[in-house]
Amino acid sequence: MNTVTIPNKNGHTINDFSNEEIGDDHLFTSLDTPIKPSAFELSDEEKKERISILFSEIMDVLGLDLTDDSLQGTPKRVAKMYIDEIFSGLDPKNKPKIALFDNKYQYNQMLVEKNITFYSNCEHHFVPIIGKAHVAYKSSGKVIGLSKLNRIVQYYAKRPQVQERLTNQIANELKTVLNTEDVAVIIDAKHLCVASRGVQDDTSATVTTYYGGEFNTPAKIAELQNYLNN
Ligand SMILES: [Zn+2]
Repeated sequence: MNTVTIPNKNGHTINDFSNEEIGDDHLFTSLDTPIKPSAFELSDEEKKERISILFSEIMDVLGLDLTDDSLQGTPKRVAKMYIDEIFSGLDPKNKPKIALFDNKYQYNQMLVEKNITFYSNCEHHFVPIIGKAHVAYKSSGKVIGLSKLNRIVQYYAKRPQVQERLTNQIANELKTVLNTEDVAVIIDAKHLCVASRGVQDDTSATVTTYYGGEFNTPAKIAELQNYLNN
């Protein structure tokens, strides 16, 4: 994969790649999800209303008969799904509230939460990314409820995403809430834009990793891999 360092400021190219190439090669421009300042001016209900109108337009242009009983409710259904479910992680109000606890057991080794299933969507094609996330941390004095690790993964997955950004956003959030650099995130995912279209490769998977602090040593990486293989 090509490394992107120059932001796509003019809206046309990154390092001389065209927009088409950027999409199919899944290059991305920033750690933060590119979101406009006015992103939350409309209420959720207003957004659903708008998306429903626009989606019926897409269906209409495709030639679908929107008076058909089976299709009639689709635009509204899609709008509700976008806002309440699959893209709900765009809105900071949906961010999980994290409570920390004192590390009473004085457990001071790594904690690994593995096989967290998530569903995301590729921001270049708007088709699913399906995968498993494995996250690990070493307590700096506080611990986090296990279900919260899962919720952090789900929050960042429920956005239009690229896998590298998803990995780093989860890692950053863990570092912030746990107040430590000692976190690791490994994501193994299948991209339907690669499987069901484009090169139509149904067997490949993409693995991305973040090893921070103490995790960024060959010994810790090997230890972590050993847990994930069992
Ligand atoms: Zn894609």
